Amino acid sequence: MARVFNFSAGPAVLPEAVLKQAAAEMLDYGGTGTSVMEMSHRGKAFIDIHARAEADLRELLAIPKNYKVLFLQGGAAGQFALIPMNILGDKTVADYVYTGQWSKKAITEAKKFCKVNVAASSEDQNFSYAPAQTAWKLDANAAYVHYTSNETIGGVEFHWIPDTGNVPLVADASSHILSRPLDVSRFGLIYAGAQKNIGPAGLTIVVVRDDLLGKAMPNTPEVFNYKVQAEADSMINTPPTYAVYIAGLVFQWLKQQGGLAAMEKLNIAKSKLIYDFLDQSEFYQSPVATQDRSRMNVPFRLKSDSLDDAFLKAAKTANLVELKGHRSVGGMRASIYNAMPIEGVQALVSFMRDFEQKQG
Ligand SMILES: *Cc1c(COP(=O)(O)O)cnc(C)c1O
Repeated sequence: MARVFNFSAGPAVLPEAVLKQAAAEMLDYGGTGTSVMEMSHRGKAFIDIHARAEADLRELLAIPKNYKVLFLQGGAAGQFALIPMNILGDKTVADYVYTGQWSKKAITEAKKFCKVNVAASSEDQNFSYAPAQTAWKLDANAAYVHYTSNETIGGVEFHWIPDTGNVPLVADASSHILSRPLDVSRFGLIYAGAQKNIGPAGLTIVVVRDDLLGKAMPNTPEVFNYKVQAEADSMINTPPTYAVYIAGLVFQWLKQQGGLAAMEKLNIAKSKLIYDFLDQSEFYQSPVATQDRSRMNVPFRLKSDSLDDAFLKAAKTANLVELKGHRSVGGMRASIYNAMPIEGVQALVSFMRDFEQKQG
């Protein structure tokens, strides 16, 4: 079977060139006679893979020297707990911005460790927008301010970086990291599960400023202690070696595409195609405030939910898959990460136009 256009929110599409290279190197990586999966993480071949992945990520995001890059496990959801465990220090409260399902989970987990001040929320309008900075009520005693810079389920993206003064800003960037250039120096900590826009599930990336290290609660597990992992180059135990390798290939691919400025241009073009189409249609509708629409995750609804099943079935026949919205919100969602070629978005829009004409 030919490859399809895969709009999954995650685990998600990977660049075809990366999959081909991984396939070519599956049985014999670089003349070692072994697969990357079969190598010691302490051996030279893997240490080189790991170091190159980190160096390429640092180059792509222009990560300043006073930040550590950690390659961890446990997913972005693991970080919901590890962030308070590692960076609360002697503080007892943290600010959270509540913009949808993922920030809700982050808040629930943080409450096990500290008092949570919900500094802003978009619950009043069903999580369809990013609350303006002027509406945020920050706590002066907060250890940090956490927000979800792209809500994968609701399709709401912050197109601006909040200003939290001297209080460290923490971003769950799981579903839009590497989709655009980012001024890392504005953040205390940025984290992302790999399986949306980086690589395979199993790898979690944490970029953390040096001054936030060394504050972990005494009962923090060693493998989840940022400082311990930073000092061990994320190898206090066996890292997710194959996921790191694939992520590294994705970083190389991104550099070949022209880096994050080029990806941003393409992501603007891709998302504009679909939002322009939604806006001129009376059959489809986007639930998200125009200025806060995500370039990565595009939720939309058909004129009637009763057409959803027919839409998904016809889309599948046209080799367009994984368009069903998250079970908590219903409707449709097209995730159009870096690895989704513009041809995939064109095919989707063309299919949607045909479906509308037949049903509408
Ligand atoms: C997918 C996702 C998560 C959860 O990631 P896991 O790796 O499954 O723990 C958290 N936050 C955001 C924004 C996500 O998109």
